[in-house]
Amino acid sequence: MATGTDPAEQLERRYRARSLWLEMVPEPVRPRPALSRDVTCDVAVVGAGFTGLWTAYYLKRLQPDARVVVVEREIAGFGPSGRNGGWVSSKIAGSWDVYAARAGRDAVVRAERTTYQTVDEIGHVVEQESIDCGFVKSGMLSIATNDPQAARLRSDLEIARIHGIGAEDLRQLERSDVDDLVHLPDCRLAIFSPHGARVDPARLARGLADACERLGVTIYERTEALSIARGEVRCRGGVVAADHVIRATESYTTQLPGERLRYLPLYSLMIATEPLPASVWEEIGWHDGLLIRDRHHLFFYAQRTVDGRIAIGGRGAPYRLSEPIGETSERDAGVRARLEETVRRQFPAASGAAITHHWGGPLAVPRDWSMAVTYDRVTGLGWAGGYSGHGVVAANISGRTLADLVLGRDTDLVRLPWVGHRARSWEPEPLRYLASKAIVAVLASADRYEDRSDRPARRTRVLTPVMPPS
Ligand SMILES: Cc1cc2nc3c(=O)[nH]c(=O)nc-3n(C[C@H](O)[C@H](O)[C@H](O)COP(=O)(O)OP(=O)(O)OC[C@H]3O[C@@H](n4cnc5c(N)ncnc54)[C@H](O)[C@@H]3O)c2cc1C
Repeated sequence: MATGTDPAEQLERRYRARSLWLEMVPEPVRPRPALSRDVTCDVAVVGAGFTGLWTAYYLKRLQPDARVVVVEREIAGFGPSGRNGGWVSSKIAGSWDVYAARAGRDAVVRAERTTYQTVDEIGHVVEQESIDCGFVKSGMLSIATNDPQAARLRSDLEIARIHGIGAEDLRQLERSDVDDLVHLPDCRLAIFSPHGARVDPARLARGLADACERLGVTIYERTEALSIARGEVRCRGGVVAADHVIRATESYTTQLPGERLRYLPLYSLMIATEPLPASVWEEIGWHDGLLIRDRHHLFFYAQRTVDGRIAIGGRGAPYRLSEPIGETSERDAGVRARLEETVRRQFPAASGAAITHHWGGPLAVPRDWSMAVTYDRVTGLGWAGGYSGHGVVAANISGRTLADLVLGRDTDLVRLPWVGHRARSWEPEPLRYLASKAIVAVLASADRYEDRSDRPARRTRVLTPVMPPS
C-alpha cells in the first residue's frame, strides 16, 4: 500500500481510506487518464459506479460498435459502489405501494422476480468476465431479535404470500435450520431467501470497469462533469458530445445545479473486524456467502468477507446541514458503538476481535423512497438511481434497462414499474434536515423501546409523512 508523500500516493491513500474494500484492492489504485480534449461519441455516461458501468457494459454487449464514453469525477467505484455491504440481494428498491399505484400489483411482482433473476445475472457476468470479487450465492437470512421484529418478519412473509411469492423464494426457518446456517443466540425467528450473494463490491466495480474497457468503452477518471445537458457533458478538460447522455451519479446528483432536493443523502456506515481465526468461525458456524440482517428499524446488514472478517453496517449517522455529502460524515462514534455492540450480541465468539475499519457513504433517498429509471427519447437524456440503500442489484437492472431504452429495444425491463417514475422533490432546508433528524431519532428510540419492552413502538407512526407507504 502507498505510504509516501508524492501526490499520486496521497491520492491513492485517500481512495483506499474510503472503505475496507478499496483498501484491500490488490492492484495499485491509480486513476485512468482524465479527459483533456473535446470528444464525440454515441452515449456519454456520467459516473463510474454500478449504474454507469452496467449501462456502458450492456450497451457494448448489445451493440458492439456503439461509441460509449464514461466520465468519472474520481475513480471507478469511488462512491457507495466501492463501499457498500456487498449484499447482492433481491427485493425491490422501493415501496410496493408506490409502484402498484403506478403500474398495478402484477407489475410489482414482476419487478420483485426480476430482482431474483438479477442476482444470478450478476453472478453470470462475474464468471464470464472472470471478475475476482468473492461472489458466493448462499442466500439471505433476516432475523428477529425481539417480538415486534418477529411480527414484522411474519408480516413480510404474509405480504409476499399474498403476492404469490412461494416458499421456494421466501420461507420461515425452524430453529435447527437456522443453526445449520449460523449460530445466532439472539435469534427468535428467521426467514430465508435463496436470492442473495456476498461480494467484495470494490473488486466488482473495478473489475466491471476493466470489463467495460475490454469491450471498447473509454473511461476518463478524475473528470468532473460540470454540466449535463442535451447532447453534451461539459467537463473541466473538455466537452463530451453525444446523442445520448446518461446521468449515473446517484446521491451525488444533489451536488449538481438544480438537483439539490432530488434526494435525501442519508449516510450508511460500516465496521469490519480483523480476520477471525478458523476456531472462531467454527463457533459462529456462519455458512460462507450467507447474508444476515435483523429487522430493527435501524437494521444491521452483515457479511462474512472473503478474507474472514465480519463486515457489518447500519444507518443512523447524523445529517450535516452545512455539508450533506462530505468525508466527515463517513464515520460516527455512535453508529460505530452500536455496530460493535451488535457484533458482541449476535456473534459472541467474535466479541474479542479488534475492529480494524470504519467507513461509510451516502445513500440516495427519494421523497417516496422508490427508485427510478428515466429516459427521454426526444432529448436523449436519461438517468437512474434513488435506490435508498438497495442499489447493488437495482443498478444492474437500471444499466440493462437504460441500455434497452437508449437502443430502442422493447423488452420486459422497459415495462418495469420504476421506468419513468418520478418522485416529488424533498422540502427545502431546513425541512429536509429536520425530516432526516426525525427519521434517525424516532427509529433509534423505537428500537431501544422494543428491545427493552418486547412491545411494538407506536411512535414510528409520526414518520408516516416522510417514510414510504410499505
Ligand atoms: C455503507 C453502504 C452500504 C451499502 N450496502 C448495500 C448493500 O449491501 N447492498 C445494496 O444493494 N446496496 C447497498 N448500498 C447502496 C449501494 O451501494 C448504492 O445504491 C449503489 O452503489 C449506487 O450505485 P451508483 O452507481 O448509482 O452510484 P455511486 O456508486 O454513488 O456512483 C456514482 C459515481 O458518480 C461519480 N460522480 C458524482 N458526481 C460526478 C460528476 N459531477 N462528474 C463525474 N462523476 C461524478 C461519483 O464519484 C461516483 O463514482 C450501500 C451504500 C452504502 C453507502
